[in-house]
Amino acid sequence: MREHLTALDDAVSGLLDADLSAVSDSDVVLIMQQLEKSVRRAGAVSLRLIVESAERSLPATLGFNSPNKLLVEVLRVSAADASARVAAARDLGLFHTTSGEQMEAALPETASAQRDGDIGADHARVIRKIMRKIPHAVTNADVASAESILAQCARGGTPEDVESAGHHLRAHLDPDGNLGDDRDRFRRRGVSLGRQDSESGILGRHRGLPVTVIVTTTLDQLEKDAGGVTTTASGGLLPLGDALKLAERAHPVLVLFDHDGRPLHLGRRRRVASTDQRRALIGAEGGCTRPGCAAAPASMCAVHHVLEWRNGGSTDIDSLTLACDACHAQVHDGPTGWATTRAAAGDTYAGCTEWIPPPHIDPDGNPRINHRHHAGELIARARRKARDRPRAEDGVP
Ligand SMILES: [Zn+2]
Repeated sequence: MREHLTALDDAVSGLLDADLSAVSDSDVVLIMQQLEKSVRRAGAVSLRLIVESAERSLPATLGFNSPNKLLVEVLRVSAADASARVAAARDLGLFHTTSGEQMEAALPETASAQRDGDIGADHARVIRKIMRKIPHAVTNADVASAESILAQCARGGTPEDVESAGHHLRAHLDPDGNLGDDRDRFRRRGVSLGRQDSESGILGRHRGLPVTVIVTTTLDQLEKDAGGVTTTASGGLLPLGDALKLAERAHPVLVLFDHDGRPLHLGRRRRVASTDQRRALIGAEGGCTRPGCAAAPASMCAVHHVLEWRNGGSTDIDSLTLACDACHAQVHDGPTGWATTRAAAGDTYAGCTEWIPPPHIDPDGNPRINHRHHAGELIARARRKARDRPRAEDGVP
């Protein structure tokens, strides 16, 4: 341990003294990213030491009545910081049984993402907060899937992305829980104003679409006895029962999807025109498809060509995607521009829009997908995977 600590200290001294003036712009970003990764991994080492001290009963031996007190006294950290670290160690740390065998972390995927340096303490804190709120009635398999989905989301996004994914995930795991609470919906209710446009005066239009109720759901949700949760075009979540009640009074468009989220049926006997294409996209994509975009539910998005029109893109439904104005503006041929493409058939997320980041964000240009609007599909996918897994892998003795 001492040898590693000396090497670490030497490395930090070297970085503090290194001349940055000769480093190129893109390397400054790369260095930031690499350092962040190392700092995050170092955070996992810190949790390891807290676990070790707890297993040795070190706080009691040294006269402290809690592990938190030990950290406050020994490291001179705040009480809040100490409490956060001890809580993180409890969920992410690798404890041992009394016979000395190492146990799995309470949140195994989150712990391994932190050890890889892909997520930091803030990501982990948000995941722990979401996991604590999952009701006890949810099955162990679904709890494990939820943790895995959140950890995966954290590896590619910000803590805010995880928070938003968690909100959707909880609604799908517990459609009859807090979701139907009017106070909750009242708190989230709001009005947004768009640009004024010359209109026919008959029906209001929003981005070329007549004002109508668009509610999306899946076969799984419709088949559920207990009722499921549907998604509105503005990204709201609505219990299925409420959506059906709404349908009695309005002329809603129902968009139905297969298990992989591909449109099965667009409930209007009409030739496929741009309006229907847009409705299908609202149903299929739910909002801005750029990973990390928190701003835009489907009703705030424009239809964008996956392959730019001027580069040969067509207006077939397969070539269209939803993007908010701010994200759409980031797609260009310049050095800081993003590119979009469609995940190929056979890919896990076949048919989804992939966004390829510019080199300053990811030098390898690995495509990213926005899963924010698709918590229900991710859970369904995880459930099918668990169901299809051969029994040998289930750890059946
Ligand atoms: Zn966006």
